[in-house]
Amino acid sequence: MNRFCLDCQEPLIGRSDKKFCNDACRSNFNNKLKTQDQNYVRRINAILKRNRRIIMDLNPNGMKKVLKEDLSNMGFDFKHYTHILNTAKGSRYFFCYEFGYLFIKQDEVLLVKNESLLNQ
Ligand SMILES: [Zn+2]
Repeated sequence: MNRFCLDCQEPLIGRSDKKFCNDACRSNFNNKLKTQDQNYVRRINAILKRNRRIIMDLNPNGMKKVLKEDLSNMGFDFKHYTHILNTAKGSRYFFCYEFGYLFIKQDEVLLVKNESLLNQ
């Protein structure tokens, strides 16, 4: 059975547990993995920051009702948030850093800033 280097795909000669031709291939392969990993984190961070920016722009005074559609139109991504806050009253707020939102109707959300909630 032929085995191939995980990096350059050249046939491997030698020990059966060998995965790379040499140290250069090993380090090249590991660097590529690391870059992919960082790219993933960077992409998610960019989405979270954009979400935060959108809420902040729409909600300069700490609390505001807006249409869900308005957020979507600005490129808001509802699938990504940093954390959830469940209040004693049973409301579930989604946060992107210090800015959050609560679904209040089918098409409406309440935008909040962390402090305004904590001071309730
Ligand atoms: Zn190789």
